[in-house]
Amino acid sequence: MLLRLRRNLAEDERATFLALAAELGYAVRFVEGEPELARLEGPGRPEHRSRLEDCHAVVGVLDGGQAHELHQRAPGAPDRVVRVGEGAFGGGSVSLIAGPCAVEDAERTLQIAREVRARGATVLRGGAFKPRSSPYSFQGSGRAGLEVLARVRREARIAVVTEALDPREVEAVGEVADMFQVGSRNMANQPLLRELGLQRKPVLLKRGFAATLREFLLAAEFVLAGGNEDVVLCERGIRSFDPSTRNVLDVGGVAWLKLHTHLPVIVDPSHAAGHADLVRALARAGLAAGADGLICEVHPSPSEVHSDGEQAIGLEDFSAVAADARALAALDGRTVVQPAREDAREPERVPARPVG
Ligand code: PEP
Ligand code: MN
Repeated sequence: MLLRLRRNLAEDERATFLALAAELGYAVRFVEGEPELARLEGPGRPEHRSRLEDCHAVVGVLDGGQAHELHQRAPGAPDRVVRVGEGAFGGGSVSLIAGPCAVEDAERTLQIAREVRARGATVLRGGAFKPRSSPYSFQGSGRAGLEVLARVRREARIAVVTEALDPREVEAVGEVADMFQVGSRNMANQPLLRELGLQRKPVLLKRGFAATLREFLLAAEFVLAGGNEDVVLCERGIRSFDPSTRNVLDVGGVAWLKLHTHLPVIVDPSHAAGHADLVRALARAGLAAGADGLICEVHPSPSEVHSDGEQAIGLEDFSAVAADARALAALDGRTVVQPAREDAREPERVPARPVG
């Protein structure tokens, strides 16, 4: 590991640094003629970089060397492939997540689930607990929404991703969801991330709209450090000065993430765009930048939607997005995972009735 230290360190600051390096098991060598450059030789554990950055004597880590954090792609290491129901993200597999912003009534949600599945989505999205900017806006249907999702999951045979806002909701959400969503407003909610680190279901982590990529990766690190290795990162647009689009889709960030982490990265063109007319273009851009999937807000009747109606695309538009995804994935030898055909599936088992 290569560190830059402060200039003209006081003796006690230098001694504190050397003691920390020794405690972590490193031998320290100063680069000749460069008293601020320290090379640390030793074991390299995921937590070492942050421990050293906390030390007053250290200005920054120039090269983490062998101290790989858990999200970091080691040179030449393959992608982590995260599987959710029939979907798979990473390692050449691209999957599509689609559905309403918020869970609707059971019949409507079931209809949407069947329609998006028939068009290529392997995972249904839909928030029961909605993170809204105003406490007076629609907050989601809560536990009733989870019940709707449970029924739709069973009847449409599609995996479900839905948001948990609070660590106290994780258990209830986990009884229904195949994947936990952490929204942009909650990316840095550490108690929630720690709780999800203890779960054995994948996590869809959305980038905070003002978070750097390093902050985004460190949020993922909270989940990974808890023992849950299945994190899918989602770029959903960052805030800018220009209100023409709701956010700015950071396609450069997607390409950067694919280089620096082995975790799958997907794109949410809906929250980036804010307008249905822009969703297809942003979906294409995200996939061209290397995204391992998309999450799109889709609704057969956007004017009736409870939240984010302006950005919901219709079913035909989702078919076009799915066709684009197949074409773009094929360009670099990847495949879009298709849901199994309904008629090729075994009938669902009905639990045996208790006798008597
Ligand atoms: C959502 O997915 O509906 C949502 C609220 O997204 P974000 O957290 O990215 O704003
Ligand atoms: Mn939304």
